[in-house]
Amino acid sequence: MRIELVTIGDELLLGYTIDTNGAFIARTLAADGVQVVRRTSCGDGADEIADAVRGALERTGAVITTGGLGPTADDLTKPSIAALFGRAMRKDDAILEALRERWKARGWPGGLPKANEQQAWIPEGATVLENRHGSAPGIWLENERGQWVAMLPGVPREMRGMLTDHLVPRLRVQGAAAVVRSATLRTTGISESMLADQLGALGKGFDGLSLAFLPGWEGVDLRLTARGRGAEDTDRALRDGVSRLREVAAIHAYGEGDADLAGVVIDLARTRGARIAVAESCTGGLLGARLTAGAGSSDVFLGGVLAYHNDVKTVELGVRAHTLETVGAVSEETAQEMARGVASKLGADIGIAITGIAGPGGGTAEKPVGTVCWAVSHGDAVVSRRAQLIGDRTEIRQRATQAALDLVRRTLAT
Ligand code: ATP
Repeated sequence: MRIELVTIGDELLLGYTIDTNGAFIARTLAADGVQVVRRTSCGDGADEIADAVRGALERTGAVITTGGLGPTADDLTKPSIAALFGRAMRKDDAILEALRERWKARGWPGGLPKANEQQAWIPEGATVLENRHGSAPGIWLENERGQWVAMLPGVPREMRGMLTDHLVPRLRVQGAAAVVRSATLRTTGISESMLADQLGALGKGFDGLSLAFLPGWEGVDLRLTARGRGAEDTDRALRDGVSRLREVAAIHAYGEGDADLAGVVIDLARTRGARIAVAESCTGGLLGARLTAGAGSSDVFLGGVLAYHNDVKTVELGVRAHTLETVGAVSEETAQEMARGVASKLGADIGIAITGIAGPGGGTAEKPVGTVCWAVSHGDAVVSRRAQLIGDRTEIRQRATQAALDLVRRTLAT
């Protein structure tokens, strides 16, 4: 099955919004054998929308749009596509009632704003696609020749929900001869080139699967993609492929799909019955935020001390003045004392500490910007690392957080 996408919004053309909707829809549908053959972005104007959708309909007869379903004057998707199909607009009382109920439940004074009433107008003969994730309902409009347009909201969270709720079940090609699916193995603590060396010939892809190396601050993701086979075959090949990669990547592999390293660490600590406390300087709370991002970490994560100023390192964490004077705040020794200090202060089994120079100022010849030290105490043992991290301030802080989490993972894994 071949379809086209039209993503609508001036902000897409201005470059302020990146068309992640188009990417998500193409990826999701390809996994079910539906091929997106063209993606068009157009502005909010009624004529622009009509032009883009008309062309797409002529080519494939099957079009998904996103955007322009909201309550404001620039939301013209429905009337302009209705006109293209020669349909009038009509007020749908059920939608209006649902909108009123939604506003009442929110408890905002004044009830449904007048502007929102526009969302209850739909093209004659259209099917309403319920939106459980927001206020603007989606629309399915089809003519007697079987040509159709599905209109989804622009807000990515709502669009994703409605794609899954309505379009994937409608469009899924049962027993599709060819699907495109991917699987990802996540690695960290190893560079892209070292990983390529380690993978050898596998790095070029294998068993008909293509392999992409995707480096970022979290590590290097290895993404396998299978094209041109049936769904079952594809899933089996990807499962086997990921297992082969896992064997080679060994300790550097920490998860699959969208696994987050902090979640992996929380799970590992839970199975070991270990509780975690953190002491953060240059990361200013990022580590704590990562460890609490997933729900239900309170049985493992106790809390932490944000020790940005040296006085807090000494008073709250017991870092010795001698250590700070002789080797400085950014040193493995200080990181070790911070990790031990916070574990003992909060009664944790594991202490994690990070101290470094995130920049852009504050670097010296001996400790340039990007110098970061981190340590993990586990019972009586303590391990630490020092590295020169690359990137701007944001990236250095992200990389430092990831590296500290990885040291915990490796400590617990052995
Ligand atoms: P609303 O009810 O908010 O008016 P809508 O269906 O009219 O929803 P738009 O107003 O076009 O959608 O966009 C809402 C928001 O969704 C925009 O601010 C933008 O950030 C985001 N958005 C719109 N289109 C896309 C897209 N193609 N990719 C990613 N984000 C998008």
